[in-house]
Amino acid sequence: MSEAQSIQWFPGHMARAKKQIEKSLKQVDAVAEIADARIPVSSRNPILEHIIQGKPRIILLNKRDMADPTATKQWVSFYQQKNIEAVDIDCKSGKGLGAFQPAVRKVLAPQIASWKQKGMTGRTIRVMVIGIPNVGKSSFINRLSHGSHAAVENRPGVTRSNQWFSIGKGFDLLDTPGVLWPKIEDKMVGEHLAFTGAVKDDILDLEDLASRLLELLCRLYPNAVRSRYKLGETDFSGMEGWQILQLVGKKRGMLVSGGEIDTERTSKMLLDEFRAGKIGRITLEQAGGVQ
Ligand code: GDP
Repeated sequence: MSEAQSIQWFPGHMARAKKQIEKSLKQVDAVAEIADARIPVSSRNPILEHIIQGKPRIILLNKRDMADPTATKQWVSFYQQKNIEAVDIDCKSGKGLGAFQPAVRKVLAPQIASWKQKGMTGRTIRVMVIGIPNVGKSSFINRLSHGSHAAVENRPGVTRSNQWFSIGKGFDLLDTPGVLWPKIEDKMVGEHLAFTGAVKDDILDLEDLASRLLELLCRLYPNAVRSRYKLGETDFSGMEGWQILQLVGKKRGMLVSGGEIDTERTSKMLLDEFRAGKIGRITLEQAGGVQ
């Protein structure tokens, strides 16, 4: 889909988000866009690209602890090839965060050189943190600001919901909470967000969701599924998700009276285990082509 086409779909709330982001953009030198390393396509909003045009930015692939390390490396080099600075991070443990400030300095090298020329050596670098809900924005900011929730200052012209955080080494972060939504209208995007728990389960049928997830997992990481659910050498080819769900439920002894498989309980268990990373480090979307 071309950029012009992708801009047309967004409804009123996206237009408001766009305005809000555009306003905040004037206050910052760069944008740090946080995405989920397991679903780098679905966890990013296509309009952001359009809104931040021209603003130096970096992509932070968060939750790398749950993503397939090989796939994450491929994503980082995929972005590098497109001249986009990308850093993989884990805000749960703090791993990878040391690379954030150097990466921002790298994308801002021309600006920093020009500030230096003008004698502005002590200039603070201001970075807007942006991303869809649940991607880890608060965790990222809390980690870097060492849990200090104190806003740096209230800058004029900034809406009250925007908060500044000082993270030291000449950096301030601008938090822009909850304004950017994923493109859930897209079926694949909606599904992948639901698998990872980024959108609420109650809008989707649990068994359907679990079956679809199993189908995808058995295609991408069949051994991880076999090993987690003790399915031996089971050949998943030609099997539908609901059939695999039955196998998993049976292995786990999730039965209802009469001996039938309790597929609802099995579905919930499967989704919980996937989201907790128990099935393995899994990436659902591969660089250069979505699965
Ligand atoms: P926000 O809505 O973008 O501010 O997201 P949060 O910072 O509130 O994070 C959403 C959920 O993801 C929380 O349960 C976090 O603990 C979890 N989370 C954030 N970063 C990571 C990470 O790097 N790894 C893992 N495993 N969980 C994370």
